[in-house]
Amino acid sequence: MTTRTDYCGRLDTSDVGRVVTVCGWVARRREHGEHLAFIDLRDRTGVVQCVVDGAADLRNEYVVAVTGTVRERPEGTVNPELATGRVEIGDTTVEILNPSDPLPFQIDSRVEVDETIRIRHRYLDLRSERMQRNMRLRARVNSAIRRAMEAQEFVEIETPMLIASTPEGARDFVVPSRLQPGSFYALPQSPQLFKQLCMVGGIDRYFQLARCLRDEDLRADRQFEFIQLDMEMSFADGADVRAVISEAVAAAVEEVTGTRPPSFPEITWQEAMERFGSDKPDTRFGMELVELTEVFADTGFNAFKAPSVKGIRVPGGASLGRNKLDQLTDRVKSWGAKGLVWIKVGDAGQVTSPVAKFLSETEVAGLLAATGAEAGDIIYLVADEWRTVVRILGLLRLELGRPPVTEGGLDFLWVTDFPLFEDIDENGTPVSAHHPFTMPGAEYVDGLAEAAGDPEKLLAMTSQAYDLVLNGWELGSGSVRVHRADIQNAIFSLLGIGPEEAQAKFGFLLDAFRYGAPPHAGFAFGIDRVVAILAGEENIREVIAFPKTQSGADPLTHAPTPIDPAQLDELGLRLLPPKS
Ligand code: ASP
Repeated sequence: MTTRTDYCGRLDTSDVGRVVTVCGWVARRREHGEHLAFIDLRDRTGVVQCVVDGAADLRNEYVVAVTGTVRERPEGTVNPELATGRVEIGDTTVEILNPSDPLPFQIDSRVEVDETIRIRHRYLDLRSERMQRNMRLRARVNSAIRRAMEAQEFVEIETPMLIASTPEGARDFVVPSRLQPGSFYALPQSPQLFKQLCMVGGIDRYFQLARCLRDEDLRADRQFEFIQLDMEMSFADGADVRAVISEAVAAAVEEVTGTRPPSFPEITWQEAMERFGSDKPDTRFGMELVELTEVFADTGFNAFKAPSVKGIRVPGGASLGRNKLDQLTDRVKSWGAKGLVWIKVGDAGQVTSPVAKFLSETEVAGLLAATGAEAGDIIYLVADEWRTVVRILGLLRLELGRPPVTEGGLDFLWVTDFPLFEDIDENGTPVSAHHPFTMPGAEYVDGLAEAAGDPEKLLAMTSQAYDLVLNGWELGSGSVRVHRADIQNAIFSLLGIGPEEAQAKFGFLLDAFRYGAPPHAGFAFGIDRVVAILAGEENIREVIAFPKTQSGADPLTHAPTPIDPAQLDELGLRLLPPKS
């Protein structure tokens, strides 16, 4: 093979007169009279125009080496859109290194191709400018994060893939053991327990770009397997962890955008819910929830006689017609609301609403004052239990105001002081909001046992857990961990995990904690989501080299596939007939 001397996309007028050899794929061919053809030759750096013998049998995606002389393009044929648009390669000889069958789709950013077809032929899709850009951007983000963590004296430690289950609240992927038939490994939902063991092991500052696997339904922002920046540090609290992570994320953003983002604001979970109706608030736009319970404290309107009344004001929203409002009301009901009240504001504080006649003048005045509504605005109100009110209005706010995730800048936000438990299940057992190794808020540490069986007390307890949010996407979570056996046991007992079960599941961790576990805290955030947003992509599949489709299948390798009966035999497994 002729030796490559240059990359296609790097040739410019300073190379004029040089004899060069470039290698790559034929991206486009245009005939130029009978004897000549123009081909755009593509490699990882871009394309360059080559003038070749028109008789040469060169079709799209043939792999070729072109040797020739760089020359300036004739007047009028300069292409200012292209980095190499002022030059071309002439007097060429072409060596065909490998022909190509006609492609299943055209590699051209201007042509929309069905995603499944793109994934089935990902090796072709990867040649596209978009995927080349995204893959390289991803590598730079990884590298910037790694450098930032190393600069902060974190050590990269690889934890195993075949493990016992980690309780992150998702379903495990399991791997049958051949040597111990009937036993299974779980693939890690996260390295959580190992990183805590690293702290007991005196590592002090651990990190890993860790592959995590969770058997959950796939969405635009979720795949079965994903990469997290996973970290843990000793003798540190939540603020220390947030500073380290903010630094790593800022380094990644700076690497891609060239500018360092301002420091990330922090709000508590309680405030996030009150103001945005969400634990991952999208702070790129306003329309915050307005507290109105007091305004309607003595109301005669039955629908507003509720523990909590809140509203959101949409500037200029009064032009919405009756049909649209009815549709919106149906939508809100499908989320579990009893109803949605809307009030349009006219000139001089006049209001129009199906419920206007039930509202007193003082109430209307109070409503306008609290929301700051002006003529032409609309106010939506929901009255119910507090949890329902904030949840519904939070969803409505997103529905009405949310920009696409890739627009409107990068709004990072720390949400702190999450509840310890997110819910109480039908048996009265609380459900961890983060995971069972999360330290309760300092003021709750001593009262754990007393809260048992008291839903109100249980749900009121906060934890030392925090999330990082970007444009309304949860990037990751972390917490200060429980490092004392007595607190851990009290939490297990609240979660209905008895001493035997705790020993069977996490005995190794509890044992380790008996031998001098330092106080420690940590965090993990999903690289895929950060990269997607930085790449301006709404779907994380666009920044993953070989993703699965929404159904969890891989159209390229056809995974998952049945396995050989002999393999099943060896593993001591027998299949049941498929469930109908
Ligand atoms: N292990 C947690 C997760 O994967 C993160 C952490 O608490 O560090 O979400």
